[in-house]
Amino acid sequence: MAAKVFVITGPSGVGKGTLIRLLRERVAGLALSTSATTRGPREGEQDGRDYHFLSRDEFARRADANEFLEHAAYSGNRYGTLRSEVERRLASGESVVLEIEVQGARQVRAAMPEAVLVFIAPPDPAALRRRLEGRGTDDPKAISERLRTAELELDAQQEFQHVVVNDELEKAVDELEAIVRAELCP
Ligand code: ADP
Ligand code: 5GP
Repeated sequence: MAAKVFVITGPSGVGKGTLIRLLRERVAGLALSTSATTRGPREGEQDGRDYHFLSRDEFARRADANEFLEHAAYSGNRYGTLRSEVERRLASGESVVLEIEVQGARQVRAAMPEAVLVFIAPPDPAALRRRLEGRGTDDPKAISERLRTAELELDAQQEFQHVVVNDELEKAVDELEAIVRAELCP
């Protein structure tokens, strides 16, 4: 079974993290790439597990040193996938899942045309606000900014190979699982 890169993208609050967690409970051998960010940790987030939390200077230094497979500015912070996160997993035969926003997904598609890209869409735009408010991790200003960005991201969905609408969670995980299994065992 060939190791692959799976990119799960879509607007903030659509359920990417939730779907990936459930997917990894169902499909063995899917490693999650830990991204780097300049955003500060949220309550309960751990450095090295949830993100590599970097200062702006450290992020810029690593970007200049070409250490990122992709990186993007999002809601006033920088986010990026370190090449080392992906390469060491692929080298050991593990497939890798990236949970990233749309600009980064486009960069991965350009750098790795063999990567499998999945856009997660909400059943309707109002669901994003409900889910971001319900998650309770972002203040109202951050939520507004994320929803503004989401409008642009939703316009980009037809660029992606696969689109999964996350309406009923179980059904969306089933669809994502089917896509991943078909790619792993064609
Ligand atoms: P993302 O990683 O895309 O920002 P999350 O996975 O953190 O999104 O999900 C945002 C919120 O929406 C969470 O509180 C999560 O429990 C909830 N959620 C995820 N999927 C669904 C769904 N299908 N229906 C209702 N709520 C959902
Ligand atoms: P959050 O601040 O909610 O953790 O993440 C904000 C957005 O950044 C989300 O859409 C998330 O998917 C995206 N993101 C997380 N890590 C990366 C990354 O490494 N690269 C890119 N381009 N986006 C990322």
